[in-house]
Amino acid sequence: MVDFSLSDESRLLVETVRKFVETEVQPLEDETELNAVIPPEALKRVKAKAKELGLFAMNMPAEVGGGGLSCIDHCLVEEEFGKTSDALIRRVFGQAYPMLMACEGEQIEKYLLPTIQGDLICAMAITEPGAGSDAASISTSARREGDYWVLNGTKHFISDGDIADYVIVMALTDSEKRARGGITLFLVDKGTPGFTVARTQPMMGHRGYGHAELVFDNCRIPTDAVLGEVGNGFKLIMKSVLEIRLAHIGARAVGMSTRALDMMRRYAGERRQFGQSIGEFQMVQKLIADSAIEIFAVKMMVMNAAWEIDQGLEPRDKVSMVKVAASEMQGRVVDRAIQVFGGMGFTKELPLERMYRDARVTRIYDGTSEIHRMLVARSTIKNGLTL
Ligand SMILES: Cc1cc2nc3c(=O)[nH]c(=O)nc-3n(C[C@H](O)[C@H](O)[C@H](O)COP(=O)(O)OP(=O)(O)OC[C@H]3O[C@@H](n4cnc5c(N)ncnc54)[C@H](O)[C@@H]3O)c2cc1C
Repeated sequence: MVDFSLSDESRLLVETVRKFVETEVQPLEDETELNAVIPPEALKRVKAKAKELGLFAMNMPAEVGGGGLSCIDHCLVEEEFGKTSDALIRRVFGQAYPMLMACEGEQIEKYLLPTIQGDLICAMAITEPGAGSDAASISTSARREGDYWVLNGTKHFISDGDIADYVIVMALTDSEKRARGGITLFLVDKGTPGFTVARTQPMMGHRGYGHAELVFDNCRIPTDAVLGEVGNGFKLIMKSVLEIRLAHIGARAVGMSTRALDMMRRYAGERRQFGQSIGEFQMVQKLIADSAIEIFAVKMMVMNAAWEIDQGLEPRDKVSMVKVAASEMQGRVVDRAIQVFGGMGFTKELPLERMYRDARVTRIYDGTSEIHRMLVARSTIKNGLTL
């Protein structure tokens, strides 16, 4: 028997997060969007409340102070997070990358725990001007010199790179082996000589936090700055991104789309033209129906893949399918919502135009739609479709 019911605990968790997002976080959206800065005092207050309610760093294991959620619960929570902006999610609920669980010895006290407690901000630097989709072709290198590693190279588009207290940097330690044992992750502190934030890179959306180009010029870091094992960096990233991709792209897309659908269905009932509510026009109904159908489909995909992760499986193909379906669905739903609102949808008086811009990047980062389609195609051609 397949049981789709949620436990009372999960239901309560979702309701708590939903209410918190609606009453505490969404009210900060307009000012954040207008000034590209989250109002500092309000942020302090809301972040403290999120911590008090146990809503901070929920993606991390309980034994290190995180929420210890199953993947299904994590996705349900992220669905609610998706109903506000990315900048606010990062700051209010935390941005602890799961690969930090590879911290060992003093790294635990220095990086892992303070990040989970929200005292340190971490950025993840993989992409380079010359290496995007083909991440294994990076040229940032780390050369061993006595008790140090010497980093050289440039990373770009790094979210929070401008303000991060430390950065997880992916570098080449063996140019022959590359993804097969030649890539290592390093923990690099802000202010380390030779590490500079060269510039911020303004984006189409995601106002409220920065993306930066980072330069490492003979940057010397101690040998204990290696995260995980030397040569194991690519594997570590690939293992950790699975749940991130599912929750941050898949589940959040369901959340943002559900919010857009809720706005359009209400408006369709209220707005009158030609003597009747616009929701009575079949062409408007189609915009709503198609959105509801697509959100349902993606939500089921997210839940199915999350369930497999909870069973200890690694549903790589399914997560790639979710990544494509969710990001593209989200764009279509928000676009339809703008259409239902007519001119109002295009104004900055509603969050829809922000959602439209913010949604666009989900087809690009964390592997573009083309890359994930390529992976799905390769696997399907080789193995057939295994659902
Ligand atoms: C807002 C934002 C935040 C980001 N945050 C981070 C971050 O925090 N850390 C980080 O490391 N990176 C980050 N990135 C980088 C992001 O992951 C890359 O932009 C993404 O991986 C794509 O790489 P690229 O931009 O170099 O595009 P390219 O790889 O150059 O791709 C260009 C086009 O070619 C297509 N293409 C490439 N290869 C193939 C192929 N084999 N088959 C078919 N089509 C192909 C792509 O699909 C795309 O359409 C961020 C990017 C943005 C925009």
